[in-house]
Amino acid sequence: MVERAKTFQIFKWHYRSNDELNPYLLSSQGYECVDLNTLECIVCHNKVLFTTEEGNERPLDELLKELNNHEASCEYHGQIG
Ligand SMILES: [Zn+2]
Repeated sequence: MVERAKTFQIFKWHYRSNDELNPYLLSSQGYECVDLNTLECIVCHNKVLFTTEEGNERPLDELLKELNNHEASCEYHGQIG
């Protein structure tokens, strides 16, 4: 999990709108940072892009919905609330 948290620094992670969505929380939910502001679940490969095409940060409620969008069989299914 600490290794996963490190991917948030290797790739660019610019989401600053909400302190609760930090690399440690997100990596504990199965996510690693795979591309610029893009997270992917290591188990079910659910992908969440944190910014719009224009580079603006997307609203938190939208992001939470997508972060909870794991496959039903994924061990991380339904953990962020
Ligand atoms: Zn998953």
